[in-house]
Amino acid sequence: MKILLVEDSYIERHKVGGYLADWGFDYVAVGSGTEAVKALEAPEPPNMALLDWMLPGLDGIDVCRRIRKLGARGPYIYTVMLTGKNRKQDLLLAMEAGADDYLSKPVDPSELRARIMAGKRILELQQSLRFAATHDFLTNLLNRSEILAALEKEYSRSGREGKPATLIMADIDHFKRINDSLGHAAGDEVLKEVARRLKADLRPYDVVGRYGGEEFLVILPGCDLTIGARRADEVRNLVTKDPIVTPSGTTSATVSMGVTVTSPARDHSVADLLHEADVSMYAAKKNGRNRVEVFSATARQSGAGQK
Ligand code: GH3
Ligand code: MG
Ligand code: MG
Ligand code: MG
Repeated sequence: MKILLVEDSYIERHKVGGYLADWGFDYVAVGSGTEAVKALEAPEPPNMALLDWMLPGLDGIDVCRRIRKLGARGPYIYTVMLTGKNRKQDLLLAMEAGADDYLSKPVDPSELRARIMAGKRILELQQSLRFAATHDFLTNLLNRSEILAALEKEYSRSGREGKPATLIMADIDHFKRINDSLGHAAGDEVLKEVARRLKADLRPYDVVGRYGGEEFLVILPGCDLTIGARRADEVRNLVTKDPIVTPSGTTSATVSMGVTVTSPARDHSVADLLHEADVSMYAAKKNGRNRVEVFSATARQSGAGQK
């Protein structure tokens, strides 16, 4: 957890900063509202802000409102107002501006530490709720709506920057047989292990999600079709290579994959991309399973009319 301390008084800033350092918190201290906004809008913003109310230029209330305006775009920023004001209507104003809590100045270290601990608990709760809302419960991969949102994002970025992105659809072969022979619980274990292997070899900016029951989507930003197909085959091999051990017995799993790519030159949509990956995945099934099929240029032309 990273804390942003905003305090224009040098003495106060060093005093409170000293406490934070003593307690082992990762923190940044700035002396004005303008610097605070800059830190809050940076790529890795803090999770908690301790805001002095009276600041030159933008005051603590302004900064608070800015934080709430950033809103759902990023992770929640827990905000504590540090204030000399303690009239009830002032406190109400701070809460209305979006503060989560307030603390009277001069800051008492024990009280500050207690407020930070309470805030930390709320942030942890918020993070676990956010994770649950965006990830698949069984595999911990991105869930269907998140992987589709990631595809939308990658699709627009690809168009904007003129760089390709590969989309892979992967479906476990004869998964029903695994369920039928070892039971549904073992099937779940296989799903988890396949999910783990699917992402084992990916780069930090690649994304993988559970698209449906035993179907997955992998997005490889920056990969053209040749590289994308090669990487798909590497991932397929990684999934297939080793047996999968479950409490009900050892089994193995193979996947069939369909691969396609975004292309700035082509007039197609995210729905078209999904369709192409799907068509190719079914071709891989038809052609014997445990293989990768690429959506080819000729198939692409006829594919466009297939829907
Ligand atoms: P194919 O090679 O053609 O893809 O055959 P398949 O058996 O994998 O395909 P089919 O669509 O016939 O069956 C998919 C099975 O996946 C059926 C469904 O019960 C199972 N399944 C879907 N979600 C889950 C899950 O969360 N856990 C378990 N254990 N099974 C699941
Ligand atoms: Mg001040
Ligand atoms: Mg299947
Ligand atoms: Mg399927």
